[in-house]
Amino acid sequence: MAYSARKQKAFPSKETTLSYWIGEAEAKLAKHRTTEELPEQADVLIIGSGFSGASVAFNLLEQTDETVLLLEARDICSGATGRNGGHMRSYYHHDQYDFSKNYGQKTAAHIAMYEHEELNVVENLVRKYSIDCNFVRRTSFVTYDDPSLEKSGLRDYYAFVNNPYIDQKVKDGVRIVFDEQARKEHASTSFGVYTPTSSVWPYKLVCGLLEIALSKGLNLQTNTAVEELECLEDNTWMVKTPRGHVHARKVVIATNAYTRALLPDFWGKITPVKGVVSHLKSESNKTLETNMVHTIPVEIDYISVQDDGSLIIGGGGKTYKTPPNREMMVDNADDSYFPEETRQYFVG
Ligand SMILES: Cc1cc2nc3c(=O)[nH]c(=O)nc-3n(C[C@H](O)[C@H](O)[C@H](O)COP(=O)(O)OP(=O)(O)OC[C@H]3O[C@@H](n4cnc5c(N)ncnc54)[C@H](O)[C@@H]3O)c2cc1C
Repeated sequence: MAYSARKQKAFPSKETTLSYWIGEAEAKLAKHRTTEELPEQADVLIIGSGFSGASVAFNLLEQTDETVLLLEARDICSGATGRNGGHMRSYYHHDQYDFSKNYGQKTAAHIAMYEHEELNVVENLVRKYSIDCNFVRRTSFVTYDDPSLEKSGLRDYYAFVNNPYIDQKVKDGVRIVFDEQARKEHASTSFGVYTPTSSVWPYKLVCGLLEIALSKGLNLQTNTAVEELECLEDNTWMVKTPRGHVHARKVVIATNAYTRALLPDFWGKITPVKGVVSHLKSESNKTLETNMVHTIPVEIDYISVQDDGSLIIGGGGKTYKTPPNREMMVDNADDSYFPEETRQYFVG
């Protein structure tokens, strides 16, 4: 495919699947445009309205008096943040063996403690600003459903507990259980690890942050795709959209897997890989006590329990690890479809 055609396909697609989070939430900001016309200039111009773009806008407007403009190609928060698992998976032990081996125990400890602190930071933020986003502290149970993964699971756990740079209070939050105790949570695992986690409604959290940013002067323009960036001689930027050009002193690119459409240097470095999550509601009142992370080959499956007991279930990687479904999911930014086999996997 010619480069110009590949580039065109790397931008957010016009059509998208409607996610549970977006479909069921109030859509106050969905098509928001703070001003009818696009401003001609801004101190900081942010591209993308997911977690990254919204938190940069929120923090800039909290801490500085810069003029901030946020441009979003589609409706608000319509990328990964608006369609993810809503599961803050702080399973600190995961990958700790490799992190210690490759980067040293100090760096591995920083990563684990960063994940630990992340939960507190988000919880404090949500409470401080009373953001209505169904944030609930929960426990996750990590299982090792496939025997081939048990060894690496244990190696990770023991690398974590034996790392002298990890605070004891962080280690105390993580607990391993074996045999019968483990099988009480999940029948086909010989051990499992309990970790702190939370469930959250990501779309509502982003909308909450953006509402605060708007009250502090954010100019938000949805359905305004940035088509091109030009760096000027004085190191400021001309940002080009179908609605006109904006001159910005600084540009923040928070475009996730779409980044290579704007910055060609990222071809081969950032490649989109889609994922699928489903929302399941049971007709009985029964639900799960814990969130679950099932470690299986190809991709984990995970379950985040909602306030009302319904489940968000993500994963299904084995349904698209080979062609032709792989082509629908890997190196493909179009999020308007996914394989039928993946839908059936969740139904099953
Ligand atoms: C199915 C799935 C399940 C996941 N589950 C979890 C989970 O349970 N827990 C977890 O922690 N993480 C999960 N993730 C990962 C998490 O959702 C992402 O890491 C996170 O949302 C990325 O946020 P972001 O703001 O960087 O990107 P995004 O939310 O993707 O936002 C990027 C935005 O930029 C916009 N944009 C792109 N190009 C342009 C342009 N040229 N002009 C204007 N706007 C543009 C897009 O439209 C989009 O709105 C999951 C991801 C997926 C896809």
